[in-house]
Amino acid sequence: MKPAPFTYHRARSAEDAARLLAELGDEAKLLAGGQSLIAMMNYRLARPRHLVDIGSLPASEGLTGFRHSPDGLRIGALTTHHAVETADEAQLGAGFAVLRDAMRWVGHLPIRTRGTVGGSIAHGDSTAEWCLLAVLLDARIVARGPRGTRTITAGDFFYGFFSTALEPDELITELVFPHPAPHAALTEFAERKGDFGIVVAAVDLDVENGAVRGGRVALGGVAPAPVRVPEAEEALARGGPDDVLFAACAEAAAAAIDPPGDGNGSAQYRRILTRRLVIQACEEAMSR
Ligand SMILES: Cc1cc2nc3c(=O)[nH]c(=O)nc-3n(C[C@H](O)[C@H](O)[C@H](O)COP(=O)(O)OP(=O)(O)OC[C@H]3O[C@@H](n4cnc5c(N)ncnc54)[C@H](O)[C@@H]3O)c2cc1C
Repeated sequence: MKPAPFTYHRARSAEDAARLLAELGDEAKLLAGGQSLIAMMNYRLARPRHLVDIGSLPASEGLTGFRHSPDGLRIGALTTHHAVETADEAQLGAGFAVLRDAMRWVGHLPIRTRGTVGGSIAHGDSTAEWCLLAVLLDARIVARGPRGTRTITAGDFFYGFFSTALEPDELITELVFPHPAPHAALTEFAERKGDFGIVVAAVDLDVENGAVRGGRVALGGVAPAPVRVPEAEEALARGGPDDVLFAACAEAAAAAIDPPGDGNGSAQYRRILTRRLVIQACEEAMSR
């Protein structure tokens, strides 16, 4: 299929993009890597009258790459999944390898070379790796619009099914990860390599002297938005031998969720996946 007619606008700067969005109103959509939006337009699930292309903004606009600041690791919205996948420790900083390692789960290489961090976050798919990592690691999303720049914590950003706190006239400029997560891991199960995961699990363990003292647990594919699971985090805080602790954490996670059932799997199947994937994520995180 082909998209409905639209007018193409090429933004020359982030400011230009923000101005165009404000001028064109609700009928306009930003185009970054195009890996979600173009597919939606081809299926006529999205029919924007105007596309504002930010995909070719120069690096001098500051929307691409990694920066280290007192607030944490800042990743520009136009940074591609592949740039993160191939980043070294000097670029990412110690304790952020989970971001790099999680990228192998995002689609296929051609998708990763064009798709962007900001596009993933704005798209707000509950099983998208970036959305889950943001929720797990308390990331902050920086958005620029006609009312100025604001920062939204990931916990307040994802409302529900492809729905976020972003206003139609706002542009995500960067993502801030406030703390290193040296014992974090993300894993998932998809029917075929490169598909979106049916369930995605991510954990970030607090480890002291080789023992788990607590941690964070996030799941995708079990609710309309990516979620943290406080019951599983409470289980982790109780401590104990790793195998017993991880099994208790997984059991608590599976019991706490009320997953949907659809063509990709029943609610019960998603619970079984959750149990297995949480243990797997805990084991991977611990082995770092
Ligand atoms: C076959 C296939 C498999 C895939 N598998 C996965 C997967 O396993 N995991 C996964 O996470 N993703 C997957 N994707 C999606 C891919 O990661 C996309 O890159 C991503 O979802 C969107 O990024 P983009 O830069 O392509 O955004 P676009 O498609 O250009 O835009 C997506 C949406 O975000 C908005 N937007 C883009 N940039 C910004 C910004 N800076 N500020 C505000 N709004 C913005 C657009 O207006 C649009 O609404 C897959 C895609 C395909 C085609």
